[in-house]
Amino acid sequence: RICLRKNLPCSRPLFAESFNRLLSTQTGRKLQDKVALITGGASGIGKAAATKFINNGAIVIIADIQQQLGQETAKELGPNATFITCDVTKESDISDAVDFSVSEYKQLDIMYNNAGIPCKTPPSIVNLDLELFDKVMEINVRGVMAGIKHATRVMIPRGTGSILCTASVTGVIGGMAQHTYSVSKFAVIGIVKSLASELSGHGIRVNCISPFAIPTPFVMNEMDQIYPHLDSQRLVEIVRNVGVLKGANCEPNDIANAALYLASDDARYISGHNLVVDGGFTSFKNLEFPAPDQAQ
Ligand code: NAD
Repeated sequence: RICLRKNLPCSRPLFAESFNRLLSTQTGRKLQDKVALITGGASGIGKAAATKFINNGAIVIIADIQQQLGQETAKELGPNATFITCDVTKESDISDAVDFSVSEYKQLDIMYNNAGIPCKTPPSIVNLDLELFDKVMEINVRGVMAGIKHATRVMIPRGTGSILCTASVTGVIGGMAQHTYSVSKFAVIGIVKSLASELSGHGIRVNCISPFAIPTPFVMNEMDQIYPHLDSQRLVEIVRNVGVLKGANCEPNDIANAALYLASDDARYISGHNLVVDGGFTSFKNLEFPAPDQAQ
């Protein structure tokens, strides 16, 4: 059989796809019967996305290095969540996770490359720790490339799929984080744009989301080391005070909403895009001129 789009071989009946689309419209569940694999899904943004996807009819495979937390998260999310141990620095782990999706659920519709780590290198390039640089790149960049490589291995023959990655506002403008982390996130945005050029021809969309600072364990552990004398409530307050949008704070659920949109048919013509979720932070800089009566 041939998929109407791009004349590619299609293993899934068009009837089933149309039926699922109709069902999604009627139930309002935007990912009805889709299968999603989320790296770093045990915690924070990944967990919020897993919850959102399941509430919208998807089956979610949580792929994370934290075994116990991953199993607890899958249990908490119910029968449509499964956990698989996966270290994104090991290509075989990613390959196995993708194969698990196909053997267990017959397909992989959504690959969300979300796992990432922060970095505490010294602020100056002069003192850059290149070993740490390699380690961060191995997870934040190579892990994303490996995820896309193996997801497309099973998506290309079907001529369909949606790939998401978590980038960051620190990959949109410089100076918002240590160089190593910032550079790793600039690279994620570059990966999306480069790969869209090839994957569009296979009916596969690839996009990323750039979140603003959110007090997940990822950020809180770092804050704790910078301000060991402050309690966690105060640390959350400090993170939130950096935001610019009055009356709202950036939450994991805001990123999950963006991920749901990009993963679903609502974004069916969107590819190669970086969706920035930052309340406007990276869009402007207020110029601070002296008040007329104070200018000399
Ligand atoms: P988190 O610490 O809550 O979640 C990160 C998850 O990634 C954890 O479950 C962790 O076990 C997993 N992980 C780490 N290394 C892994 C590996 N080698 N293989 C598989 N899984 C691994 O933090 P989060 O804030 O939800 O972070 C998720 C993503 O969001 C990261 O890519 C991060 O860079 C990005 N991000 C976070 C913020 C923020 O402020 N929290 C802002 C912008 C971007």
